Amino acid sequence: MYVVIGAGLAGLSAALTLQDAGADVVVIDSADRPGGRIASDLIDGFILDRGFQLINLNYPEIKRWAIAEELDFKVAPRSIRVSFGSEFVTLGDPRTSFLSSFSSASGSLSSKAAFLKYLISKPDRAESLEDHLLRSGCSDLYRKVLKPFLQGVFLADPSRVSAVVGREIIGTFISGRSGVPADGVASLPLALAKRVKNLKLNTRVEEIRGKVVATSDGDFAAEKVIVATDLTTAGQLLGADQVKPLLSATTWYHSTEDSPTDTAQLVIDSQNRGPVVNSIVISNLAEHYAPVGQSLVSSTTIYHASESEVRRHLALVWGRSTEEWRFLAKYEIHSALPLFAPGAEQVKNYKYNENIYCAGDYLNAPSQNGALLSGRLAAEELLLDEGFQRS
Ligand SMILES: Cc1cc2nc3c(=O)[nH]c(=O)nc-3n(C[C@H](O)[C@H](O)[C@H](O)COP(=O)(O)OP(=O)(O)OC[C@H]3O[C@@H](n4cnc5c(N)ncnc54)[C@H](O)[C@@H]3O)c2cc1C
Repeated sequence: MYVVIGAGLAGLSAALTLQDAGADVVVIDSADRPGGRIASDLIDGFILDRGFQLINLNYPEIKRWAIAEELDFKVAPRSIRVSFGSEFVTLGDPRTSFLSSFSSASGSLSSKAAFLKYLISKPDRAESLEDHLLRSGCSDLYRKVLKPFLQGVFLADPSRVSAVVGREIIGTFISGRSGVPADGVASLPLALAKRVKNLKLNTRVEEIRGKVVATSDGDFAAEKVIVATDLTTAGQLLGADQVKPLLSATTWYHSTEDSPTDTAQLVIDSQNRGPVVNSIVISNLAEHYAPVGQSLVSSTTIYHASESEVRRHLALVWGRSTEEWRFLAKYEIHSALPLFAPGAEQVKNYKYNENIYCAGDYLNAPSQNGALLSGRLAAEELLLDEGFQRS
């Protein structure tokens, strides 16, 4: 029996890879539901994702599991709305928002052309995402649009993010089909978890002793173990130092009867006039997110802020009063994403020791794809060591 610890995306993809190869596997998770950092709550008729995130159906690993058909998926516009004081510019895929490419408010034409070149350029391992974009000639576009936008993607200033990982995620984002399932982002891990034959929830792993996994519900004999927990727990279980910093984010939910927009475009503030890094009327993307007659606004901050600061900034970002908006909830996520700093390596080898393999976004890339890929690669490495034939 193989034991996978953690039923987040990494653990689920590890377990499915083992299961598909004919291996006997159990997945153990301490939570009462699978999904880890991808979770949704239903509160007063609103669907509140625990942290705003979009799922990209074009992520190679999501395609690989052919899961899209099982989700009632709502695709987000391939453009964003950028607030420049009192002016708004729509910016996005040049094929669908062609005219906005010529708006000088969002950056000079030459810096937009430079961005297209950036997309096919090769980053230096040691440089930051910011340095790579500036070196590529995108400075005007970077300052006005990319920097505020990317802060919401990486939950950190792009000067702190590895150019290699940054370039990879921007590439998948540009070519992506992002959105949310109609009933919340948790539908993705739930659909994957349904395929797992042996999943044990509400069971905390306390220790790994050789071939024994000790849990709150007794010991499990394990031929091999894949540790697919978050970075901090992996460090504790393996007695290893945590070397990557973790980034936090807060998602704020407000409801209003008077939506500030009819679209589901993400809005960002080019002028950085407050703590909000992005905001979206998420119920315009997936109507089930709010009861009839209500709109649900989801907004992200990455530094400490009060509700009144957020509300004040949202009025500027959306260009209308937010006084009547009802504050519903906030989710503070302290270990939302691992930081891949300039020079940080994506691991090539998922084997920790003779019995243990590791998986998790912190090993590959801070994204759903990174988590899924790490799980599959860890499982494939285990299968290879165990002499399973490739299917
Ligand atoms: C706010 C936010 C926004 C994001 N936005 C995006 C986005 O837009 N696009 C994108 O691609 N990615 C996004 N991500 C990243 C993505 O959600 C994560 O990279 C991915 O879900 C991580 O999966 P994981 O399996 O590596 O880890 P986790 O989801 O953390 O899974 C670890 C699992 O281990 C379990 N566990 C921990 N300790 C134990 C124990 N002792 N015993 C048993 N089980 C244990 C946990 O319960 C959990 O289920 C976002 C993340 C957050 C938080």
